[in-house]
Amino acid sequence: MSSRADQALAANRRTVLVTGGAGFLGSHLCDRLIAEGHDVICLDNFFTGRKQNIEHLIGHPRFELVRHDVTFPLYIEVDEIYNLACPASPVHYQHDPVQTTKTSVHGAINMLGLAKRLKCRIFQASTSEVYGDPFVHPQTEDYWGNVNPIGPRSCYDEGKRCAETLFFDYHRQHGLEIKVARIFNTYGPRMHPNDGRVVSNFVVQALKGEPITIYGDGSQTRSFCYVDDLIEGFVRLMRSPGSVTGPVNLGNPGEFTIRELAELAIEMTGSASTLTFMPLPQDDPRQRQPDITRARDQIGWEPKVALRDGLRHTIGYFDRLLSAGVPA
Ligand code: NAD
Ligand code: UDP
Ligand code: UDP
Repeated sequence: MSSRADQALAANRRTVLVTGGAGFLGSHLCDRLIAEGHDVICLDNFFTGRKQNIEHLIGHPRFELVRHDVTFPLYIEVDEIYNLACPASPVHYQHDPVQTTKTSVHGAINMLGLAKRLKCRIFQASTSEVYGDPFVHPQTEDYWGNVNPIGPRSCYDEGKRCAETLFFDYHRQHGLEIKVARIFNTYGPRMHPNDGRVVSNFVVQALKGEPITIYGDGSQTRSFCYVDDLIEGFVRLMRSPGSVTGPVNLGNPGEFTIRELAELAIEMTGSASTLTFMPLPQDDPRQRQPDITRARDQIGWEPKVALRDGLRHTIGYFDRLLSAGVPA
């Protein structure tokens, strides 16, 4: 016989679609939803996602893996949708920029069409990149941004901006319940070891004793959010009252220069790595820090994990990966 807790859980049990579910953030979201007793359909085309990220869920009775590209229509029945499918690292999203825009734009259209037919809530993983190289600091949600429409980062930035437009038009035109999160740099276990993002690069380089590659002079800033904090923000936003549409900034307001991050990675790994300076990529934003007043007020969220604590977990993860001989 099931307990009252089991029955309560069953009453709230939902079937949730997570696009990009085999990626870094998606796999953590799948874990959270499975742990809460939901049925999860994880959809991914495995462009940057990896089976290793979700292999512990394969065979679970409430977990289903679907290989599919969101740029093509999808007809299934679910209760809510988290749309995360899109490469997030500059190295990956610039590899096939046309496909990146298609993934954001056609992917949003298909997932919004699905949500419209099912009359279900839909969450969009948008990004701080919609602010581009910002003139307003820290960034608030009402800042419209400073984005180059024709540069090497534009496929990602403008694709995500267009996806936001589509979300708000489906909301106004078709009454869809939308939840748009603007995610700032997030790090943690299951980042791809060679996806080119700064935290994974620096930690892997420090662990291997290789030079730490600082682009530019390292004075540009970023704010780093630990993955567990971010997933809590996703879930709170999704479950907030229908009147809360976003966009809502989700990120950690603690701001660090890239050089500070490099020095922290060296110190915390006890590495003998040195710093090496390389050219700054085109359109690389000078500074980035979220204003999270809206997230605090509307969904009662703020991050709890300090950079040092989050880095300790992340270093542990990459250390185990490298010790196991996974190529990086
Ligand atoms: P990731 O690259 O690890 O995950 C993206 C996933 O989407 C991968 O599993 C990939 O295979 C899948 N995918 C890509 N194109 C697809 C397609 N056409 N059809 C189906 N699946 C596809 O990146 P992540 O860090 O987990 O990012 C997840 C989402 O969050 C992305 O939308 C990203 O833009 C957004 N985001 C992430 C960050 C961050 O710091 N991690 C910051 C801002 C926004
Ligand atoms: N779509 C989908 N699954 C559905 C419903 C729609 O993938 O269950 C896709 C379909 O490709 C469609 C798009 O979503 O073109 C947008 O749907 P919408 O109903 O807004 O527009 P329309 O069908 O009129 O083009
Ligand atoms: N960066 C760096 N060395 C690296 C990777 C990145 O100095 O090996 C810098 C990059 O130029 C940028 C910052 O770190 O200023 C964050 O880069 P990332 O690609 O992680 O994210 P994004 O630029 O999208 O915020």
